[in-house]
Amino acid sequence: MAHDALDAWLDQIEADTADAPTLREISERFLQTRHALLGACLEAVIRRRYAQALQQTEAVCACGRRLFRRRFDAKQISTLHGTITLQRPYFYCDVCEQGFHPLDAKLALADRHHQFDIQERTTRLGADLPFGLSADQFAHLTGVATSSHFIHETLNAVGETATRERVIPDAAEISRRIEQAQAGATRRPVLVVACDGAHAPTRPPGGRKTKRGPGRWCEAKGFRLYLLGKDQRVIHLASWHQIGDKAQLSTALGVVAARLPRERVRIALVGDGADWIWDVLLAHFPEGEQILDYYHCAEHVYETARAQYGDGTLEAQEWAEAALTRLCLNHLGETTGGLLRMKPRSPEAEEAIRKLSIYLAGHAGRLGYAELRRRGLPRGSGGIESANKLICHVRLKRSGAWWLEANGNAMLRIRCAVYNGTFDQIFADYMASHGAKTVQP
Ligand SMILES: [Zn+2]
Repeated sequence: MAHDALDAWLDQIEADTADAPTLREISERFLQTRHALLGACLEAVIRRRYAQALQQTEAVCACGRRLFRRRFDAKQISTLHGTITLQRPYFYCDVCEQGFHPLDAKLALADRHHQFDIQERTTRLGADLPFGLSADQFAHLTGVATSSHFIHETLNAVGETATRERVIPDAAEISRRIEQAQAGATRRPVLVVACDGAHAPTRPPGGRKTKRGPGRWCEAKGFRLYLLGKDQRVIHLASWHQIGDKAQLSTALGVVAARLPRERVRIALVGDGADWIWDVLLAHFPEGEQILDYYHCAEHVYETARAQYGDGTLEAQEWAEAALTRLCLNHLGETTGGLLRMKPRSPEAEEAIRKLSIYLAGHAGRLGYAELRRRGLPRGSGGIESANKLICHVRLKRSGAWWLEANGNAMLRIRCAVYNGTFDQIFADYMASHGAKTVQP
């Protein structure tokens, strides 16, 4: 059968192509017609490997009764290699009032027309590109036509099945990455735990065509854990982002916290000034070294300098640099003392000085950047900010895109899984729950 298909296909290629086709012309022609050939090959393999199952006359029901084949049912299945039609034996148990196709389970068919090989790739593509563009690119690269609606629906279903327990790497994988960070290092690797918020465009429920309420920006909260190995090399451990509140983020952080062998790492907590971040981090890692993100801190210092000495003046720069140097050396007392003695030049300057004093007092013990550096600890939350951008912004913030919270979160779980190296396991979970259903006539 496969040989005949090959002969027919070659004859057709001969007939279709011009006298002196270019390589590209031949390649394009292959792409347009290969499904006819590969589909026949696929069918031939199934016929050969499942010869018995295709002709099965008897089956045993879950209840133990012996059943006889009722009929054959046709099912059209679309794969990366073309669409074929299978005639599957059908069995029905009168007592259980349930029917089934044993071959569907053996082949692990999907309940939808497009099978899992296609679904896996469109989901990965849809996680990176807008859905319409994903459908176009997928068709262009594979010759298989799907729709943006199909890609969106499948991605939502994969994202709904993905739990945070599975999106976050398991204890064995975390341990393996710690080992990797430990290689060649003399000290225990530093585990950086950082939290941050990002803005996600969301919309209230409502039909696509009917008028719906205005979109609004919600906070997507996230954390990232990564290891600093030899030469400060970054080894990613886990990311999690979710449109939701502090309590939900804390629950997710609890999942990864429980999988960490703490004695094998030195824990560093990094955050900007926001109080919720410190609450969440300290709830799970009370022993962690606390570090206020240097760049946020510097921003506040520069703001105060500008308010007091004017934007872009030499005085402002000198003051800010002196203040930051003292903070780096952990001379907090000198800095706050200096602030107290400052004579505000305007009401705005007074307000800025007051705010900086409160800010620094609130983060005492989270500064001292010079010492942190000596100990190989980070001083910034650049790691979480790049994760925010990579995971949330590049896909959620598209012009005109406003997300239903549930769909936005499904997307974030998938993007985190890709980033965490757990996409294969969440897709396996999805396949297990979206196989072809037994049929009830
Ligand atoms: Zn039965």
